[in-house]
Amino acid sequence: MILGGVEAGGTKFVCAAGTGPEDLIRESIPTTTPAETLGRAVRFFERHKVAMLGIASFGPLDLDPQSPAFGFIAATPKPGWNHVDLRGHFHRALGVPVSIDTDVNAAALAEHRWGAAKGLDNLLYLTVGTGIGGGALIAGEPLHGLAHPEMGHIRVPHDRTADPFPGCCPYHADCLEGLASGPAMERRWGVRAEALPRHHPGWALESRYLALGLANLVCTLSPRRIVMGGGVMHNLDIFPMIRHELNGLLGGYATAPEIVPPALGDDTGVLGALILAQRISA
Ligand code: ZN
Repeated sequence: MILGGVEAGGTKFVCAAGTGPEDLIRESIPTTTPAETLGRAVRFFERHKVAMLGIASFGPLDLDPQSPAFGFIAATPKPGWNHVDLRGHFHRALGVPVSIDTDVNAAALAEHRWGAAKGLDNLLYLTVGTGIGGGALIAGEPLHGLAHPEMGHIRVPHDRTADPFPGCCPYHADCLEGLASGPAMERRWGVRAEALPRHHPGWALESRYLALGLANLVCTLSPRRIVMGGGVMHNLDIFPMIRHELNGLLGGYATAPEIVPPALGDDTGVLGALILAQRISA
């Protein structure tokens, strides 16, 4: 049975058909208008005759199965994508069962099945890029609640003397995402994170903010491992810096888990979407 997975992102939709990492056929579609983007994605899945589809999407999403807006993108600053019925669109167009979750919960599922957290039923996946988002598996199940977790928007101490940058989250200014996302780094230092020299003090500040965020998440969720991906984390030098900061913040009291990069690289999201499809029949 061929399964379909789509990683719906703000810049591209990655569509894939197959059964796992070994036999994946992919197509990357730029995110333009919903009609054009979803139209091209539907044609991809029709061509490959997928029997079930999983969607791993940027948020916020309505994931309450009782809600009339279940599977819709909720209020998003992304032009044209406000309240788009993502799940319903694919379901009506393809006539197959469709499952949806956040891109980060899906990434956590993929790293658990095939990647950097194999066999660990409690783990955290955090992406640090255009935004900051986190997904968690708790006892093997993606964590949901009233909505879905918004780990990028937790509050961390902000010393305005040491760091006068006001933060760039449109909702909270200096939440974790507002202080430590890729755009925050770019606006604070005037260059993209990728171009910031490895010895620049911006990396020490970045690792401090990320460790402050992780300290809260570790104390709350007690993950066995934390997988950190996204554009900012391409600088692998930051991993030991975050570990060092986190150990200091936990003060020998709570146990710091391993913090590792994703093992599935750019396929993490779309493989997670495939698992969402697989879970429909499980
Ligand atoms: Zn925020």
